[in-house]
Amino acid sequence: MKFHAFLIKYAEIGIKGKNRYLFEDALMKQIRRALRRIDGSFTVCKEDGRIYVMADNDDFDEEDVYEALQHVFGIQGICPMLQVEDEGWDKLCETVVSYMKETYGQEQYSFKVQARRARKNYPLNSNEICRNMGEVILNQIPGVHVDVHNPDVMLHIEIRQKINIYSKTVKGPGGMPVGTNGKAMLLLSGGIDSPVAGYMIAKRGVVIDAVYFHAPPYTSERAKQKVIDLAKEVAAYAGPVNLHIVNFTDIQLAIYEKCPHDELTIIMRRYMMKIAQDLAVKTGCLGLITGESIGQVASQTMQSMAVTNEVCEMPVYRPLVGFDKQDIVEISQQIGTFETSILPYEDCCTIFVAKHPVTKPNLNIIKRSERNLEGVIEPLYEAAMNTVETVWCESER
Ligand code: ATP
Ligand code: MG
Repeated sequence: MKFHAFLIKYAEIGIKGKNRYLFEDALMKQIRRALRRIDGSFTVCKEDGRIYVMADNDDFDEEDVYEALQHVFGIQGICPMLQVEDEGWDKLCETVVSYMKETYGQEQYSFKVQARRARKNYPLNSNEICRNMGEVILNQIPGVHVDVHNPDVMLHIEIRQKINIYSKTVKGPGGMPVGTNGKAMLLLSGGIDSPVAGYMIAKRGVVIDAVYFHAPPYTSERAKQKVIDLAKEVAAYAGPVNLHIVNFTDIQLAIYEKCPHDELTIIMRRYMMKIAQDLAVKTGCLGLITGESIGQVASQTMQSMAVTNEVCEMPVYRPLVGFDKQDIVEISQQIGTFETSILPYEDCCTIFVAKHPVTKPNLNIIKRSERNLEGVIEPLYEAAMNTVETVWCESER
């Protein structure tokens, strides 16, 4: 049986009152965006506390619908359903029995009927619907039995303007609809971690802008293209991402020239954070996001992160902070960024990296080293800010 109607389940906790509209409207907007990418024409609508996706005709593949909706944060589950007009009890029984037969065939299974009556003028109440329909199913489908505690099949019958019949749920990605929680600036490198970090914060409903520090000719056009590709892959979940590409070469060279080489990475990272923050303020972002995880590399020891973080005035979200690399790799494989992340293009952090970077930097010493940059760095900083290239990255799936 091919389904043409889908009930969208979302978590309702914490979204009472006015917030509920914002949540539902954002969710519907993201659902429409996801469905635009597949064949078919769909109507997304709302009926008190329910969101439906209805196919306008038969020109679609049901699997595409699930695949598209599994990229929409806020969806807990997608239930393929029959939605029928109320044409009397006997007709409803007939429809339900044929639905069960077509969906579960000759299987032996236990079931329970769960009825909801949103329209109180319906002649039977919820209990009566459950009991009577249960009996009809028992009588007409051989080999099935009722189990009210742990049924194999939970058959939902909802009496509304029309009648909804469904029993299956395809798992959604969970989270909150993008657009319900402000905007943040993701520091996006070509690595494995930062795309995953962006995915995780977008999952909490946050719109993502991204910044990439490019150092031509030390980093190639292909390295830049790789980051654009990653931004597009994150956009499959997060919605379109504005990627700001900063030309970081002159700043890096100045640091290389003026500061002790074992402190390069940490000073460079402090400048990255400062620039990211300035861009964040300019674009209305309320926080920064990085792919850092405690202890992963020299620049991610507690001491290094404290020194890096010292330049930040806005919150820095590090969703991977407690994750092992393997856990991060698994998420990146699951969301589809891994293959791009492991392409072997150079990264500006690795090119200018010292043989023995400090792992326990001291803030006062770092600040003293940074004084060597006074008078040199300011025009470079300004030039970097004035030459930012912004690329609109939309999913190409
Ligand atoms: P990733 O896999 O995300 O590149 P990493 O393990 O290579 O992380 P680092 O190179 O120390 O770790 O980078 C830590 C974080 O700093 C990254 O997750 C990213 O958020 C940010 N970052 C590093 N390099 C860049 C860059 N060239 N442009 C933008 N952000 C960067
Ligand atoms: Mg990296």
